[in-house]
Amino acid sequence: MKKKYLFGPVASRRLGISLGIDLVPFKTCSLNCVYCESGATTVLDTKRKEYVPVADVISQLDEFLKTNPEIDYLTFSGAGEPTLNSGIGKIVDFVKDNYPQYKICLLTNATLLNNAEVRREIERIDLCVPSLDASNTEEFYKINRPTQQLDFDDYIKSLIEYCRSTQAEVWLELFIVPGINDSDEAIERFMEIVKSANPDKVQLNTLDRPGVVDWIEPSSAENTMRFVRAIEPFVPVEAVGPFKYKSSALRQKIELGKLDHQIVELIERRPSTLEDMVETFGIDADIIKKRLDALVAAGKINSERSSRGDFFSLPL
Ligand code: SF4
Repeated sequence: MKKKYLFGPVASRRLGISLGIDLVPFKTCSLNCVYCESGATTVLDTKRKEYVPVADVISQLDEFLKTNPEIDYLTFSGAGEPTLNSGIGKIVDFVKDNYPQYKICLLTNATLLNNAEVRREIERIDLCVPSLDASNTEEFYKINRPTQQLDFDDYIKSLIEYCRSTQAEVWLELFIVPGINDSDEAIERFMEIVKSANPDKVQLNTLDRPGVVDWIEPSSAENTMRFVRAIEPFVPVEAVGPFKYKSSALRQKIELGKLDHQIVELIERRPSTLEDMVETFGIDADIIKKRLDALVAAGKINSERSSRGDFFSLPL
């Protein structure tokens, strides 16, 4: 069967290997952003319906997932706003009930998060990447060009509430449009929104490919750093556009994420003690000890007492 509603898997700079799921026809959205890489919105609406048949999406996903593909995320994305499809919850439930080993990511413009039904339907996702490009109504109209039905204050309030209450990891994406949303006052307002929402990280993005209009310029490295300096004291920041940056908290997280693998690699070469590992990895003993205990409990490594302390090695 042709993967009509699925695209990829593709290697994504942010998500690793990702299989895209497209739930609305080109180009159905509640916004008409000036930077949209998919082009101008043709159906501008907040009305939800089964834009593409959910049963077909589920059957295509089932056919694909039963081959056990190696992917990092199933990602609701595509050319439009995925939460406009009223069947998104059925797809989330199908994946989580039948293929719980796969993680689900939702890229959303966040304008439907004021809808309790939408929030309930996306409850089981693992990662949400909502966008936040405007710090006030004026910027919202200039950058996101929403439908008449949307109110900026309501959108921000719902976004903050969602970020604070969800179990999913949240990466708030902020697109910098020089001259529109990068004044000192705008950065101050963004900082307040970010402080209230308290996401896991903020991703700063800017123009990388042509948008819908020709007047947008990419944010310079120095300009992007103004946002980094304002937001980083509260939430880790990553710049993902042409200029790359990562808060040290995120760099540390990545190193810690690889720690199990590094421990196994080290003791494969030679059995080592906790002290050896502290010296080798330059990481706090408490952190390494926790991972060692977990690896021993999972039967992935052995621990053996000797006069120089506990030695860790691979099971024979
Ligand atoms: S919300 Fe996303 S899909 Fe919709 S117009 Fe903006 S960038 Fe394009």
